[in-house]
Amino acid sequence: MCNATYTVRFGVRLRGSIHTFTGYRSVHSEHLEPVKGGIRFALSVNQDEVEALAALMTYKCALVETPFGGSKGGLCIDPRAWDTHELEQITRRFAYELIKRDLINPSQNVPAPDMGTGEREMAWIMDQYMRMHTTDINAAACVTGKPLYCGGISGRVEATGRGVQYALREFFRHPDDVAEAGLSGSLDGKRVIVQGLGNVGYHAAKFLSEEDGAIITGIIERDGALYSPDGLDVEAVHDWLLRHGGIKGFPAPYHRPEGAAVLEEACDILIPAAMEGVINLSNAERIQAPLIVEAANGPITAGADEILRAKGAVIIPDLYANAGGVTVSYFEWVKNLSHIRFGRMERRREEARHELIVKELERLDKYLGDAWAMSPDFKRKYLRGADELELVRSGLDDTMREAYQSMREVWRSRSDVNDLRTAAYLVAIARVAANYAAKGL
Ligand code: GLU
Repeated sequence: MCNATYTVRFGVRLRGSIHTFTGYRSVHSEHLEPVKGGIRFALSVNQDEVEALAALMTYKCALVETPFGGSKGGLCIDPRAWDTHELEQITRRFAYELIKRDLINPSQNVPAPDMGTGEREMAWIMDQYMRMHTTDINAAACVTGKPLYCGGISGRVEATGRGVQYALREFFRHPDDVAEAGLSGSLDGKRVIVQGLGNVGYHAAKFLSEEDGAIITGIIERDGALYSPDGLDVEAVHDWLLRHGGIKGFPAPYHRPEGAAVLEEACDILIPAAMEGVINLSNAERIQAPLIVEAANGPITAGADEILRAKGAVIIPDLYANAGGVTVSYFEWVKNLSHIRFGRMERRREEARHELIVKELERLDKYLGDAWAMSPDFKRKYLRGADELELVRSGLDDTMREAYQSMREVWRSRSDVNDLRTAAYLVAIARVAANYAAKGL
């Protein structure tokens, strides 16, 4: 249950009349502050959903060790029904209502993007906060997921999809776990179906296909699906989607009007990256994927989860699989509070020290003649100090590996724990409980 949920109804004069909107910001647990979690814009937003998602944020943050409590916000709106300047007015007004109650504040409550929101909305929210707190030197830390030149951080946009990739890479480092799903080997050549080519699904599909050799055989969108056993060109589909607002008409031979049916196609890995409840009692029995990665929040209902596990499927749960977003949000918040970009102080120093080693190796190279030579691109690769993007990716990779291992240890060592989701909750709840207990609460 959530500690508190604030509901606000406010009117905005648009197109000659007053339009009333309903929004929520829910705080689940304040054992650590600020509390953290996205703000979504969707017509389906309601109090129950916001509260459930706030709770998920508490456990997600605990699992990946980001020092935040859990929160979530939502506005009942179809963002596509409004022009940019109208959306800005609505967003600013919603932000104003939350800011004046400290439900947006760098030390109390820090929102981020979620379904229907992105960098643009975060910049409006930050600016609104700054107008209301003109002397707060840490104002930029009141929200994360901002554009790079508005206090954002490199790699935040790709972060959730990148996290899905790192989660899968870590899973495939454990052959026993891979065997549990009836699979073997590496990600190379694995057939992947992705539902939702939004920010999360697009980046996950892009990285898995470009960097790990996975084959994206299916892409499901609002207006149907594309399916090809030989693999789809993720960039081409994404370009089409941006230009046409859907995948309909995409020049591929395998267009399927009934998108959801593609969830049931044979594949190795299914990545629901769209919205909650898409795998439920009505289709769970027919889902063939032996490994499902919950890139969205709550895509599998509790009933479906049971059915899938009974069939032997392995589910990498949302609170772990999509935690890349909040992890990089944490880095952005730290960057805002420290007022300096990661790597700015040490990058050239690192390069200078590497240069010393390269010079010594070059001396050795000359001395040894034909007997030994430096590998051709060693010098170029080794000389480069890490920039912010590399540091963010390194921090994210480390986070995803550590969190998987903590979950896995419980999954593997306890006979009463049969799945990763239960293991993830046990790890997260134990950490939250330890925090409360230490403070005597
Ligand atoms: N909305 C994202 C989530 O559900 C990101 C939250 C954040 O960065 O605070 O995890």
